[in-house]
Amino acid sequence: MSIAIEKIRRDFQILDQIVNDEPLVYLDNAATTQKPKQVLDVLRHYYEQDNANVHRGVHTLAERATAEYEASRDKLKDFINANSRKEVLFTRGTTTGLNWVAKFAEQLLQPGDEIVISIMEHHANIIPWQQAAAKTGAVLKFAYLKDGELDMADLVDKMTDQTKFVSITHVSNVLGVINPVKEIAKLAHDHGALMVVDGAQSAPHMAIDVQDLDCDFFTLSGHKMAGPTGIGVLYGKEALLNQMDPIEFGGEMIDFVYEQTATWTELPWKFEAGTPNIADAIGLGAAVDYLTELGMANIHQHEQELIDYVMPKLREIDGLTIYGPKDNHRRGGVISFNIDGLHPHDVATALDMEGVAVRAGHHCAQPLINYLDVSATARASFYIYNTFADCDKLVEAITLTKEFFKHGTV
Ligand code: PMP
Repeated sequence: MSIAIEKIRRDFQILDQIVNDEPLVYLDNAATTQKPKQVLDVLRHYYEQDNANVHRGVHTLAERATAEYEASRDKLKDFINANSRKEVLFTRGTTTGLNWVAKFAEQLLQPGDEIVISIMEHHANIIPWQQAAAKTGAVLKFAYLKDGELDMADLVDKMTDQTKFVSITHVSNVLGVINPVKEIAKLAHDHGALMVVDGAQSAPHMAIDVQDLDCDFFTLSGHKMAGPTGIGVLYGKEALLNQMDPIEFGGEMIDFVYEQTATWTELPWKFEAGTPNIADAIGLGAAVDYLTELGMANIHQHEQELIDYVMPKLREIDGLTIYGPKDNHRRGGVISFNIDGLHPHDVATALDMEGVAVRAGHHCAQPLINYLDVSATARASFYIYNTFADCDKLVEAITLTKEFFKHGTV
C-alpha cells in the first residue's frame, strides 16, 4: 500500500465501530468523507481558545481568528496551486461555487449564446446553467457518452463559436471516470469560451493544479476531503473575479457605504459578505494539512490500488453490471453497479446489514441515470482509510445479497 493505512485508520475513530453486528466498512465517501482527529482537534481548539469574529476586531482573539482563517485560505491556495490568494473564495461548497459562476454567466450571456456541459454532471452543475440559460436566452447543450466515458468527439461537436461556457466535472460521482479537463479547457479556450471544472470528486483524491489545468473556475467541497461540512472553495482567475459582481451584499464585502449606493472591497472579501464560516474554513485548512502530509499522489495511488484489486473480483460476479470506464486507470475510487433483478435500494439495505455503507439512488444525476436507462444504481466509493479487506467485504456482501434474494435466506 502506498500509504500507512493502519496509522491513518487510528486517526478516524468513527471507523472503529460495529454496525448491525458487523465491523463498519464505510464506502460512501463520494457522498461525504470521515474527518480525522487532527481536523476535529483544530475545530475544538478554535472554539475553546480563539473564537472571535474575523477582520473587524483589534483584540487578541479577533486577531488570532483572522490569522487562522486567512492562513487557511493560503493553504487552499497552495493545495490547488492558485496564482494568488485573491482567487480563493470560501463558499458553502461546490453547489454554491457553481451557482456563483452561473450567476456570473448571467452577466455575460446573450440570447443564442451556448453553454456546454455533459450528461454525467451532478445536478449542481446542471440546474444553475438551466437557470442562467432561461434568464438570458442562452442555449444549454449536452455532450453524451461513449463506452462509459465522455464522448470527446461529441463534446467537440457541441462546441461552436457561440459557446461561452463549458462546465464539466473532473471526476464523475456516478461513473467514476476522470475527465481530461485540461484538454477540454484548451478546446473551450480555442472557441473563446470559459472553462469551469466541478472538482467535488477530484480535489479530495488527486493533486490539483488549476494553473496547469488552465481552467477559469474550479470548485471543491470540504466535506468530501476530510474537512467539515458547510465549507468549500470557489477558485476563479483574478481578472474574471474582478469582472464578477458580488452575489451577496452586507458587512465585510464593502469599501464605502452611502445612503443610496455602496462600493465593494477587494478580492477575495468582495464575495464573502457577512460573518463567514470561520471555524469550518480553519477546519478545512487542517484537512488540507492532513492530506498534504499524506501526499495527494500517494492518495491517488492508494485508491488506484484498491480499484485494481477489487474490479476483477466484482467483474467476476454474475449478474453484476458496473458503470463507467473499462480502463481502471481512467477511474477514480467510485464504482456504481446494479445487480440483475434487484433494486439498488434493496442492495444498499442488504449491504448495510453486513456493515457495508454504500449509497443507492440517482446520486443527484438524474439526467445521467435516465441516459443509462436505469432507475438508480448502488455506489461504493473509497477514500484514504479503505483497505483491501474492505474490498473483500464489499465483494462478499454483494455475493451474499445476491444469494439472499435468490433463496430468500443465506
Ligand atoms: N458535483 C459533484 C460531482 C458531486 O459529487 C457533488 C456532491 N455529491 C457536488 C457537485 C455537490 O457538492 P456539495 O453537495 O458538497 O455542494
